[in-house]
Amino acid sequence: MSEQQTASLYIVATPIGNLSDMSARAIEVLKEVAVVAAEDTRHSGHLLQHFSISTPMISVHEHNEQQRCEKILARLQQGESVALISDAGTPLISDPGYRLVTFVREHGIDVVPIPGCCALIAALSASGLPSDRFSFEGFLPAKQGARRQSLENLANESRTLIFYESPRRLQAALTDMSDIFGEQRLACLARELTKLHETITTRPLTDLLAWVSSDHYQQKGECVVLVEGVKQQLDASDSEVNRILALLLKELPVKKAAAITASLLEVSKNKAYDMALKLQQK
Ligand code: SAM
Repeated sequence: MSEQQTASLYIVATPIGNLSDMSARAIEVLKEVAVVAAEDTRHSGHLLQHFSISTPMISVHEHNEQQRCEKILARLQQGESVALISDAGTPLISDPGYRLVTFVREHGIDVVPIPGCCALIAALSASGLPSDRFSFEGFLPAKQGARRQSLENLANESRTLIFYESPRRLQAALTDMSDIFGEQRLACLARELTKLHETITTRPLTDLLAWVSSDHYQQKGECVVLVEGVKQQLDASDSEVNRILALLLKELPVKKAAAITASLLEVSKNKAYDMALKLQQK
């Protein structure tokens, strides 16, 4: 196979703080490709320098990604492999790259992930919150009205919710979360992951908010907020409702039996009443 056919776009994860998290494979790929497409070439220049990588760089950021697509495709089609990196962590995760990946794939180019750091996964893995099912929500809207609306839409979500948040808005976001999700909902603040002042704290939203509000230091640095999903209430089975109703109906009138059953089994009063009437008619 000629080199022309084997050029790939590599999506390379880089550290989110601690440079020792850079993988050997990431360094190898960044050294071997023809060009590194970076969100901020000056910022990533320091990273490349640290690992003695002298590959030329071009910028690909939010504002020029569309124009860069054609340029990068042309190089790939000439047989030159390209690596995409972002300022930190995994490209495309709240970072540029989605348009580029879609575009080159549509033109038959292989896209190869070089996995590594990602703040949301690092935070989830250490949060102590359920990790089997989760929903990454990226950044919440900056304006309060839109933020509260987004949170309202998530109020009944049973999966663990994960947000990226600016430290400047952390207190306001936690206040809205506590109002909308409830003060006792468990939440985790994961700050400065992999860095010197890494802090990972999981507590009820009201406590987390009080702690952040009382310690300005907690409102600095980079942070991920995770919130436990709403606990799913399992409806009691109909046979269980009927069993309790039948017992109570021996001693009590329909209305009373239905009310006690409803509160005992956490089913609706109407449902318990209807079922009690049917039992009586048997
Ligand atoms: N692509 C990155 C990733 O894979 O995680 C995320 C980029 S996004 C522009 C930046 C946000 O990620 C920060 O505002 C913060 O919410 C989160 N983040 C990045 N590094 C972090 C760290 N070391 N500790 C906590 N959160 C971090």
